[in-house]
Amino acid sequence: MARLAESLKSPQPVLGHRIAGQMIHDPKLRTAPVFNPAQGAIVRRVSLASKEIVATAVTAAARAYPDWRNTPPNKRAEIFVTYRRLLALRADAFAAAISEEHGKLLADAAGEFQRGLEIVDYACGIAELLKGDYSKNAGAGIDTWSEFQALGVVAGITPFNFPAMVPMWMYPIAIACGNTFVLKPSEKDPSASLMLAELFDEAALPAGVFNVVNGDSEAATALLEDPRVAAVSFVGSTPLAEQVYRSGTHAGKRIQALGGAKNHAVIMPDADIELVVSGIMGAAFGSCGERCMAISVAVCVGKETAERVASGLTKSIHSMRLGSGGQPGCDMGPLISRQHLDKVLDYVAAGVTAGATLLVDGREKRGDNPSGYFLGACLFDHVTPDMRIYQEEIFGPVLCVVRVESLQDAMHLVDAHAYGNGTCIYTRDGEAARYFSDHVQVGMVGINVPLPVPVANHSFGGWKRSLFGDLGVYGPDGVRFYTRRKTITQRWPRPKSSALPQFAFPSSK
Ligand code: NAD
Repeated sequence: MARLAESLKSPQPVLGHRIAGQMIHDPKLRTAPVFNPAQGAIVRRVSLASKEIVATAVTAAARAYPDWRNTPPNKRAEIFVTYRRLLALRADAFAAAISEEHGKLLADAAGEFQRGLEIVDYACGIAELLKGDYSKNAGAGIDTWSEFQALGVVAGITPFNFPAMVPMWMYPIAIACGNTFVLKPSEKDPSASLMLAELFDEAALPAGVFNVVNGDSEAATALLEDPRVAAVSFVGSTPLAEQVYRSGTHAGKRIQALGGAKNHAVIMPDADIELVVSGIMGAAFGSCGERCMAISVAVCVGKETAERVASGLTKSIHSMRLGSGGQPGCDMGPLISRQHLDKVLDYVAAGVTAGATLLVDGREKRGDNPSGYFLGACLFDHVTPDMRIYQEEIFGPVLCVVRVESLQDAMHLVDAHAYGNGTCIYTRDGEAARYFSDHVQVGMVGINVPLPVPVANHSFGGWKRSLFGDLGVYGPDGVRFYTRRKTITQRWPRPKSSALPQFAFPSSK
């Protein structure tokens, strides 16, 4: 980590790859700029791995696998306990690196890192999680047990919006289960992943167990095509998630591919509107709306509810301060890139053209640096389901208010939407909340909780076009995803006790 910190200080350094505990630099490789989005300026460059570099990382992981797989889970957990302590000591450095390259507030970056640490905590209990199932005397003198074996070399491909937390959703569980790992983080904010890898060396993780290759689609495709990679966890936009799921499963790999979202908050007439406004402000505009669990639609039941919510939000938005993530007193940082800012601006224009009422126009607001990719919070009212701003994931600070007459109408909207990542209901009515959480077609549900991101000992995963695959990430689903069940049946017969052949199908009778 000290080496990486040094290299980050030199003018426009080029970040390489971390393979088998070494930083690998190949001057022949393509590079991409890494920006500080609050300044709109290049702060460093990152190497984009070729197929050959990816193959080197997979070879390192494949070599490390046999010994690591046979390392007792308690010994693996010991490394994670040390790693957890080292990570916590460097929490401020991680928050600073995340905030610089992503643009989110320092406190927000620290929050994402903390949620990642909680997954490392979970991985420390791996011996308990892998202990399997045992049945003595499944038949006369026969015992049987199920155990959960590692898959081999597994890979993770991660998005820009949580440069530490999303990788930490994957590799701690995968490695604790006995796999070796190759991570390809987003090329937009690669530093956090390299820092995560360097600390594993300090924790004495054997070389090759965790590797990071930086890169773009070429590196991602090389990982997906390498027959030695048994499983891939992908998190990113839905078109890529679907493509990764289809091509990966076609090639016989185990795949989980988490995609985009359009998360609705349903606000009932009996809700505490102050609580609603403060909750939705953070959930819609925190991290500039660049969260897969961000609330991007507020579905208000009844005209009066809509008027009160819209006016409360309008007031709160006007008092928001934009600025770089490290600036004290800021509420929202910039978007990740100039291209993404342009895309979000197009959506705002499309909403106006489609006839939605732009109650607050964030385009008029700038941050503390005119070159930064800032956009103020935008609030649309009278949005209807036929509009693009309702149907598509914008991934920016744009909140749509939709007005409906009843809870059934609201749930119909949520259920009919292509995405099904998260949703929430604000109400004081337990019966309505219970009905909503039981029936709604979404994977993660909040009741008066706007961002219902499951804690580490549960699992994270949406439904519909927000997740391709059967299992979510981390928690129990993570352990299942990174292991396969083997069931062993044993008998130790006394000599000659079963000499005659048995042609009937074996049973316990
Ligand atoms: P993205 O889809 O552009 O990129 C994700 C990753 O895929 C990056 O590492 C990228 O380099 C890689 N990639 C590029 N081309 C590829 C290819 N051909 N094959 C495989 N991988 C390829 O996403 P992004 O802009 O970095 O992140 C934002 C998106 O991620 C949003 O849609 C957001 O909703 C989603 N996201 C979802 C979750 C979730 O849990 N569902 C969490 C975080 C982010």
